[in-house]
Amino acid sequence: MSLRAVFLHSERFTAFRAYEGYPWIFERSQATIELCRRQGLLEVKGVALRSPRRATLEELKSYHKKEYLGLLERANKGKFEESMLASGLGTLECPVYPGCFDYHRLVVGGSLLGARLLLDGEAEVVFGPTGGLHHAGPDFAAGFCYLNDVVLAIQRFLSGGWRVLYVDIDAHHGDMVQDAFYHRDDVMTVSFHENPETLFPHRSGFVQEMGEGKGKGFNINVPLLAGTGDETFLWAFVRLLPPIARAFVPDVLVAVLGADALASDSMSNLRLTTHGYVRAVGLLRTLAPRILALGCGGYVLDSMTRAWTLAWATLIEVPIRDDAELLFGGVFQGDGLPSLHDRPVFISQEEAMKSRTACEEVVRFIEEHHFPRLGIGT
Ligand SMILES: [Zn+2]
Repeated sequence: MSLRAVFLHSERFTAFRAYEGYPWIFERSQATIELCRRQGLLEVKGVALRSPRRATLEELKSYHKKEYLGLLERANKGKFEESMLASGLGTLECPVYPGCFDYHRLVVGGSLLGARLLLDGEAEVVFGPTGGLHHAGPDFAAGFCYLNDVVLAIQRFLSGGWRVLYVDIDAHHGDMVQDAFYHRDDVMTVSFHENPETLFPHRSGFVQEMGEGKGKGFNINVPLLAGTGDETFLWAFVRLLPPIARAFVPDVLVAVLGADALASDSMSNLRLTTHGYVRAVGLLRTLAPRILALGCGGYVLDSMTRAWTLAWATLIEVPIRDDAELLFGGVFQGDGLPSLHDRPVFISQEEAMKSRTACEEVVRFIEEHHFPRLGIGT
């Protein structure tokens, strides 16, 4: 049977506007889908486009507080009230604008649709580039995230009796996903991100946060020093994830594929390229029989859409020609399409050594403290 893969997209995603210069790019899904189409990545056997509906209030209540949803209903009209600030609404990152609740309900609707398609056996791969809002809490908005579609989708899988491996490669720590499942041993959360000492959310994402109670050992943080590039990132990735997946035996992988760890993005100090990113996505694809892949951060349209187009190609196992040799003479392939890949990034020997040494320490900690609890190496 051929692969069944679904790309989640709604034309309504682009119908919203916050304020001039707002860093969140509403065109993320539209631009990615256009680039995928130009590359012929949507006319592939077994691939379908699906459009979500808004999540219902009832669906949102399984994670979010009723009072907060009431506040969002008022914010949806675009009128700011001072009391909203206490819930993170009305800030530069989470502004109040007409339809702000509708937009995020639609995003959640997408991730819930993806979860249902996987649970019902209608697809093995689902990609929703607009999802991945990992910073939203039960009663607050943070870091461009108003509702947490990741937590809500994982809850769906859990209610179906599935074990969930969550891997987050966004530059920022997946703080509220960690928080939601911190006491559980049927959700394994692994987040690779820039060291929170130098990046939002600052207060969490350190390696010592291991989970609590029966969840102890089931939460893994891999903070990477500012300046970390492909080599060190992939080294940790390859070293940690296959043994974790073998021991945990997930029914589904929920992957947050934020593109803001790329050097070509402006929002973090990590220095990955699409070459490392694609290899990471390729490895993720092997860790579980099914995958719900979500977008998350990405603040430079060109960089983000290339990364997600490459991710989609990798997820549906359609090879993209590696045209690295053409990168220096201009970024065009023989067939006239622009290269999807980044140019190489220069990292000094000194900087590479520094980030590698720091990463080795983190990995050693995980192998010593988490692995025995997960039954790895015993
Ligand atoms: Zn991010």
